[in-house]
Amino acid sequence: MTKYELVCGMEIHVELKTLSKMFCACKNDPFGAPKPNIYTCPVCLGLPGGLPVANKKAIAWTIKLGLALGCKINLFSKFDRKNYFYPDLAKGYQISQFDYPFCYDGKVETSEGPVRIERIHLEEDTGKLLHQEINGKKVSLIDFNRSGVALIEIVTKPDIISANQAKEYGRKIRQLLRYLDIADADMERGGMRLEANISVRPEGLKSLPNYKVEVKNINSFRFVEGAIEHEIKRHTEILESGSTPVQETRGWNSQKNETFSQRIKESAEEYRYFPDPDLPPMQFTQQEIDEIGASLPELPDDKVERWKKEYAIEVRFAETLTQNKEKADRYEEVFKLATKNSLKPNEVAKAIINKKISVTQADATERILEKYQELTKTDEVDEGKLAQIIDEIIKENEEVANRFRAGEEKLLGFFMGQVARKLAQKIDPQLLKNALEKQLK
Ligand code: ZN
Ligand code: MN
Repeated sequence: MTKYELVCGMEIHVELKTLSKMFCACKNDPFGAPKPNIYTCPVCLGLPGGLPVANKKAIAWTIKLGLALGCKINLFSKFDRKNYFYPDLAKGYQISQFDYPFCYDGKVETSEGPVRIERIHLEEDTGKLLHQEINGKKVSLIDFNRSGVALIEIVTKPDIISANQAKEYGRKIRQLLRYLDIADADMERGGMRLEANISVRPEGLKSLPNYKVEVKNINSFRFVEGAIEHEIKRHTEILESGSTPVQETRGWNSQKNETFSQRIKESAEEYRYFPDPDLPPMQFTQQEIDEIGASLPELPDDKVERWKKEYAIEVRFAETLTQNKEKADRYEEVFKLATKNSLKPNEVAKAIINKKISVTQADATERILEKYQELTKTDEVDEGKLAQIIDEIIKENEEVANRFRAGEEKLLGFFMGQVARKLAQKIDPQLLKNALEKQLK
């Protein structure tokens, strides 16, 4: 049987947390709105005479994200109309960007290799359809509070080779958005939505498959993983039977853990993109871009690298502790204090993770270190008593001891557990390990 490999690209839509919407002064707070249709105006309702004005901050934030992802920035850029029948976008078109997105050619590093960013553009979100039953009648209601909210779209090249990598990529993007403080990226509420373009090809083949299936509107990393795994299986079966999967848009059913067909996919030409005549094209200077670049905070990957260098903290611990920027700043205070007290920051980092030391209090720096010392404190153990207990344990477990001597090194853990139990004292694990090894050999 032929083995197949995944070819996958992702599109991520994220609502920016600007105070106002993308092209009008309406409040951007669709989740906090007390009622439907209160944050609206002629512009975001598509009424005659409503003229859009672009939100400067949303543009600066898009460029900021692009710079953080190592993108090149188009100094010339513009907005275009994407024409389509949108039941939830009253104008009948979406203002988006076609051939001059703000950012292009970036990259995200993952544990399974780099994922190249093709482009990042800025557009507007749609309203929200609510399907309800009123007086026994099925109706669809529209809430325009979300209509016109600034929405960025991040598009990758088809570099993703596993469902797990798709998940990791998505997580890194969300983390970065939060580091830059430009989006809440709340997936459950739809503030960040994932799409995966999926196909498979015989392993080793370099050319792109002649079809792709788009799974849209996925609102969790676990679901994107499930959807990709489901599609890999489905495509493989279809290809094995001698057919090609239909090029279409599918949705994810999280109850049944499977994807389902929604509609046959349109191509870009069918949207009849053209420059929006209401919005003048934009020209940036390199100096303007540099100024945005200078406002970038230290990014998660760089922080991990620096912690490794400055505090000798292992990458796996650093990656966990840099997830959230505010917390990371606090942990760093703890590492500084630890160094001052001749403690190893890496041991402290390990204890914070394994012993789940919380950093919720504002004045936590000293407290965290105290807690660490408390949790890792060991008792003075009488050497003679220890040697005697070890001796007893070895005698009681001759067979296991022989297996250890014959090379089954992981059995040391068994002895450590046995001795610790009998000792009933908190012993420094390194001390115990050394004593055990000596006596076992
Ligand atoms: Zn408005
Ligand atoms: Mn889009």
